[in-house]
This record gives sequence, C-alpha cells and structure tokens, in this order.
Amino acid sequence: MEKEADGSIRHYLRRPLPDAGAPIKGVLDWPRRFDHMQQHAGQHILSAAFAETFGIQTAAFHMGKNISTIDLGTSSLEDETAAKAEQTANRMVFKDQPIIAKRVEKAELDRYPLRKPPTVSENIRLVIIEGFDYNPCARGTHPARTGEVGPIKIIGWTRDRGHIRLEFVCGWRALALMSKEHRDIRQLTSLLQTHADDLCSRVEKRLEDCHTLEQDLRRLKEQVLAFEADSLAAQGETDGGLAVIARVFDERPMKECRKLAALIIEHHPRCVVLFVIKSGSHLQVTCARGEDVAIDMNALVKQSLPRINGKGGGSPNAAQGAGEAKISAEDMIGYLKKALAEISES
Ligand SMILES: [Zn+2]
Repeated sequence: MEKEADGSIRHYLRRPLPDAGAPIKGVLDWPRRFDHMQQHAGQHILSAAFAETFGIQTAAFHMGKNISTIDLGTSSLEDETAAKAEQTANRMVFKDQPIIAKRVEKAELDRYPLRKPPTVSENIRLVIIEGFDYNPCARGTHPARTGEVGPIKIIGWTRDRGHIRLEFVCGWRALALMSKEHRDIRQLTSLLQTHADDLCSRVEKRLEDCHTLEQDLRRLKEQVLAFEADSLAAQGETDGGLAVIARVFDERPMKECRKLAALIIEHHPRCVVLFVIKSGSHLQVTCARGEDVAIDMNALVKQSLPRINGKGGGSPNAAQGAGEAKISAEDMIGYLKKALAEISES
C-alpha cells in the first residue's frame, strides 16, 4: 500500500521488516507500473487532443482498475467530436514523440503555453510533448515516448453534474479489451450463424421475431384458457340450480387460476368456482361467484383458511388465500364444498 504524506510517497509493508536498519531489496512490479504509465500518459494525450481540437478542458482524471475516466468541461459530447479527438490522440501516439518531464522555476513558466497553472510554486515539474502538450504534473509516471502509450480507445461517456465523464483505455488494456470483445463477437456470430457484419441486423430480426412470437403465445394462451373455462363450466355439479366447479391444480400460477375463474363466472352467472392450488409445501385457494349467486366468497375463504394456517381475503365476488399444506388439496376442496353447501342452505 502507498500513501502520500509531506510531499513524499510512503510504502507500507504487510509485515514488519525482519532486521531494522539492514539493506532490503525492493522489486518494481513492472507490468503494473507500465500499465499505469500507459493510462496516465494516455490521459495527457487525450485531454490535450480535446483541448487542442475543440477547446474542451479536462476537469478531473481517475485511473480505474479496468477503465479510466476524464471529466470534460462540457455538458454534451457528439460521437463525431469524440471520434476526432480519439484520432488526434492516436496520431500523436503514432508520431512517437518524446515525453519530457523536467523541473522548472516559477519564473520560467511563461515560456511554456501551459494549459493550467501548477498547483505548487516550487519544485515545479512540467511534462512536455513538444508542440502538443505542456502540463504541470507533480508525480505522474510517463513512458519516454508517446508510442509506448499504445492505442488510446474511448469506450463511452455519461453525463455527470454538468460534465461529460469519458471512459477510455490505453495500451495493453486496449488490446485486452479488443481481444475480449472479438471473442464475444466470434461466439455471437457462431450462435446466430451469421457474419460479424450482419450481427446487428440479425439480432434486430431475432428480437422482432421474438416479439411476434410472444404476442402469438399470449393470444394462444388466452384462447386455451377460454376453452378450458368452457370445458370446466360444462362439468359443473349442479345443485339446486347452482353449478359448482371445484378443481385442484398442481404448481399453477395463481394469476392464471384467477383469470380462469373470472372467465368461467363471466359466462356462467349461476356458478361458483372453487380452486385449490398445490404449490410446494403450500396450498393456495381462490373462489369466485357468478353475478346471480348471493353467497359471500370472502366469508367462505376466511372460514376455510384456519385449516391451512392461511391468510387472505377479497370481496363477496372473489377471494383468495394461502397457507401451509397441512391437509391435502383434495381435502381442502372437500371442505370448501361442504362449507358452501352449509352456507347456501342456511
Ligand atoms: Zn503526468
């Protein structure tokens, strides 16, 4: 772990040194260091490209573990602007110009076209890419030449409190990202059996097909439900002019069962629907009545629920509840039928 304190960088160790005062050997994690140099110097170049080409200044920079960001002092960004800035930045990489870091005195500063003044008044370090970028940079690490930064790639951007937060990667990170995305595209072209150039149109077509199929499926489900409602209604046990349709379902969505009950009573006004649904270790109950039936479904459900330690409720027209499968679904149906008969006789 590193920390900055009193103008110096302190390195903290996981364990105390075995022998205080004895010489120790430190090893630089070069791949990590070079990666940081690429991202940091890439930011110098990308920020300069936005400033140089479009007068857009950089307000902040953050180096992330995977992706780095700069906050640009603009409230909107066009694709074309970003593409041009990216080209300018990469042109500077291909030019392979020296990146020079040097200490200067305050009095010398007006010799350089600085983009922003240094935050310190002594021990000032400038990082210079001749003719392109002159930047005070206190402690950043940079490669010797712009070519070492490698490709600079803008990933995307978001709006953030009046700024544009631009995401980018440089160097080996850009290549790693390209490899990953290329792998993904190869997999997608194989899954969709198409060429990379046709990938977007193929996905659009598949999504359209999916949408049509979903609509067809919804319509067919409604038709099947309507047929089922008619078929169940025809099998109702008629008792004193009242048709009772009692059924047990296994793991069927409550929403669908309620819809089925609603379809039955819609066309059969002298009908009572009693459904019990087995759902794992639970039982669910839904009851509904046709408009010519006076029996209170809410009272019927509430009366039955203690048998399954259940909770629920509804209106006199339709009510639902759920509880534990303490008794079988068939016994619950039997109980509901008996309770219904008792209420209708009273
Ligand atoms: Zn720097």
